[in-house]
Amino acid sequence: MSIVDKIFKFNGGIKTDTRKTVSTSHPIKKISMPKKLILPLRQHVGRVAKLKVNLGEKVLKGQLIAEADGNVSAAIHAPTSGIIVSVEKQSIPHPSGLPDYCVTLIPDGKDTWIKKDPVNWKKIGREETIKKIYSSGIVGLGGATFPSHLKLHNNNNEIKTLVVNAAECEPYITCDDMLMREKSVDLIEGIRLVLHLLGAENAIIGIEDNKPEAIEKLTVLVKKDEHISIKVVPTIYPSGDAKRLIYLLTGTQIAKGKRSAEYGIQMFNVATIVALYNFINLGEPSISRIITITGNVTAPNNYEVLFGTPLSDLIVDAGGVIKKSSSFIMGGPMMGFKLPSVNVPVTKAMNCVINAGSEMVENNSPVLPCIRCARCADACPVTLQPQELFWFSQSNQFEKAENYNLFDCIECGCCSYVCPSNIPLVQYYRYAKSEIIGERHAKEEADIARERNDFRLHRLQREKEERAKKVAERKANTSSDEKSKVIDEKRKAITEALERIKNEEVSEK
Ligand code: SF4
Ligand code: SF4
Repeated sequence: MSIVDKIFKFNGGIKTDTRKTVSTSHPIKKISMPKKLILPLRQHVGRVAKLKVNLGEKVLKGQLIAEADGNVSAAIHAPTSGIIVSVEKQSIPHPSGLPDYCVTLIPDGKDTWIKKDPVNWKKIGREETIKKIYSSGIVGLGGATFPSHLKLHNNNNEIKTLVVNAAECEPYITCDDMLMREKSVDLIEGIRLVLHLLGAENAIIGIEDNKPEAIEKLTVLVKKDEHISIKVVPTIYPSGDAKRLIYLLTGTQIAKGKRSAEYGIQMFNVATIVALYNFINLGEPSISRIITITGNVTAPNNYEVLFGTPLSDLIVDAGGVIKKSSSFIMGGPMMGFKLPSVNVPVTKAMNCVINAGSEMVENNSPVLPCIRCARCADACPVTLQPQELFWFSQSNQFEKAENYNLFDCIECGCCSYVCPSNIPLVQYYRYAKSEIIGERHAKEEADIARERNDFRLHRLQREKEERAKKVAERKANTSSDEKSKVIDEKRKAITEALERIKNEEVSEK
């Protein structure tokens, strides 16, 4: 182990008032079993999970409720034992604010596990272990929710370094810090397992210097491990962004459109690694996570909760809101989004919920014209020109915004944070992106419709030509003998008919 000092400072970034200590003064808390658990079938990037239970069915804790549908998908498991009472659309924590299909489970109070099946990874090998992880329901718990099994394949042995994202750079969020303090042994064991599964050579834990307790605990544990090092980085937002952290730790710039694996690096968040460790070591699928409840609440804290727990239960346990505010932000104040209401369940993506009511979360200052001060450009970690992007976005000049690399914007909010005119810059970029994406979809659909029509016309023309060709071929293939035979038969029929008419006339006379 070594604590490596050299870091590679990225461009821009900001120092914020982190407001983290408000939620770290108490240990991680658990609450009593909720009256019901609401489990959205889509809590991950990829295809929605396929339902595997029936209404009225009794399930055990850890039992499969919905299986992963294809490679880019993740399973959902029962967080406790109980009975399935509904499958219907309900309010979920998503930026769209739209409801989605959820399974409702009423706990029976017994919390009875299925037979746990720890993975004998030493015996079955890497590939078989990764196959088992596919059914664990584990996704990136840093907020990305990408199915974890996909990141463990290292077919060409290209991945040499595991980067452990312990930066947790957004203000207010402390769930990873508390996890590192309280589950440091599981984390380090998990890192060793992930190193083994990847076949990587070394791991670097990237952690911000505002987490001294976690740094100390991890340092003791990896003292004699030559494959794991800890790199303490300054507290500058957004050091937890994947590309920024990789650069900070290794000096590697991941080019546009490239994956870090192509540079020999794979990244996992600390909570994801602990979830992998629990699945392999204990046979426990993904059924819970740690979440920070903070902001304008009486007793900010971190909770270890079952997925599906109503958020409202946690707000009540945190003493309720201080200043009356029904505005809740999921994620951090920089990149989070407003929840439709407090009546949503805890999901795999929910690392933090902040009740607004502080000036950091709710900025009510008047928006003024841009004064071209360029502070936004200085703060941008992606070296974009935020003021130009703002200008093109607000004037609907989307092509120009794209030419200024709008889609490289990671929506970190650094530019909005430093803007003296209080311009909500990121909202303009989101608007421009959604308009461009909408236009692209509309164009794609129009292209598909045109292609279909062209294809239909082409098919009709081809069929017509084929029919004409067949008739011509039939004609050409008919022999002259056959032709004369047909003519003779026709002549004979006409002669017979004339003869018949003549005879009828004679008999009438
Ligand atoms: S920081 Fe704000 S006022 Fe200054 S250039 Fe950027 S957008 Fe304009
Ligand atoms: S939100 Fe986009 S434009 Fe603004 S600082 Fe972040 S990356 Fe740059």
